[in-house]
Amino acid sequence: QAKKPGRTPICFFTAEMNAQVHERMRLEQDLNRVVARGELQLAFQPIFRADDGAYVGAEVLLRWRHPERGFICPATFIPLAESTGQIVAIGEWVLREAGRQLRRWLDAGLAPGYLAVNLSRVQLREDLEQLIREVLDDNDLPPQALELEITENVLLDDHQQINAVLGRLHAQGLRFSLDDFGTGYSSLSYLRRFSFDTLKIDRSFVAPLRDDAEAAALVRAIVAMAHSLALKVIAEGVETPAQQEFLKGLNCDYLQGYLLSRPLDADHFTTFLACCARKSRPAGSSPVLLQ
Ligand code: C2E
Ligand code: MG
Ligand code: MG
Ligand code: MG
Repeated sequence: QAKKPGRTPICFFTAEMNAQVHERMRLEQDLNRVVARGELQLAFQPIFRADDGAYVGAEVLLRWRHPERGFICPATFIPLAESTGQIVAIGEWVLREAGRQLRRWLDAGLAPGYLAVNLSRVQLREDLEQLIREVLDDNDLPPQALELEITENVLLDDHQQINAVLGRLHAQGLRFSLDDFGTGYSSLSYLRRFSFDTLKIDRSFVAPLRDDAEAAALVRAIVAMAHSLALKVIAEGVETPAQQEFLKGLNCDYLQGYLLSRPLDADHFTTFLACCARKSRPAGSSPVLLQ
C-alpha cells in the first residue's frame, strides 16, 4: 500500500467512523417507516409461578423484520430509536398491538393472563396516560391486563414528572415492574418512592446461581428485601433446571427464561395458550384474565 505508515491508523479510524455514521443514518431512515410498512412484530415470553409452574402472563418483546437485512434485534434499534425520539411512535404501536392481541386471545376463549410491556424513558410523558386509557377502552380490558416494565435508569432524572405519571397510572390499577434490577444505578430508595408491584432480577444474577455461593446470597437478599416491601419477584433468564430449583428454594415468586420457554410469535403463543387451557389447573391458579 502507498499509505504512509504513520497515518494509517487515523485513516482507518475515520473510515470506520464514517461507515458507522452511515449505517446509523440508514437505520434511522428505515425506522421512520417501520410502523407504516408493518415491519414490527411482537414476541411473547411466558412467565410462570415458581412453586407450581402455573402460567401467569407474558412479556412483550419487540422484533424488527427488516426487508433486506432480516431480523434486527432490539438491543440494536431500540437505543437508536430512543435517541431520535422514534421510540414514541414505535412504543405506541407496541402498546396498541399488545392490547389488540390480548383481545383476540380473550375472544378465542383463551386465558392470556397479563401482558408486560417494556417502556422507554421517553415514553413516560403526560400523553402516556391517554394512550393507555385508549388501549384499555378500545379492547375492553381491565387495567390489570397490562404491566409496565421500566428500568432503574429511567428513574434517574426528572423524578417529579415521571413519578406523577407513574403514580396516576398506578392509581388507575396499572401495575409496574422494575426491570433488570441490579444492573443500573439503583438506589434502594426508588423502591419506596415509586409504586412498583414487581421486581425483575436481571439474568446476570441468575446465570452464576449454580456454583456461586455469593450469587445465591445476593439473590436471597434481593428476594427478602422485595418481599419486605410487598413486591413480587420475577427471575429473568432462567436457563437450567439447577437455576430453577435454586430460585424456588430462594422464595422467588415467578420465573422467566429459555428453560421454560423462549419468546414466541403470536401463532406459537396461541398454541401455547391452548395447551395451557387443556391442562387441568388446581382451583385458584387461574391467570388474572380468565374470561
Ligand atoms: P428485557 O426487558 O430485560 O427483556 C428480556 C430479554 O432477555 C429479551 O431479549 C429476552 O429474549 C431475553 N431472554 C429471555 N429469557 C432468556 C434466557 O433464558 N437467556 C437469555 N440469554 N436471554 C433471555 P430481547 O427480546 O432481545 O430484548 C432485549 C431488550 O430490549 C429488553 O430487555 C428490553 O429492554 C428491550 N425491549 C424489547 N422490546 C421492547 C419494547 O417493546 N420497548 C422497549 N422500550 N424496549 C424493548
Ligand atoms: Mg423487560
Ligand atoms: Mg429485563
Ligand atoms: Mg434484562
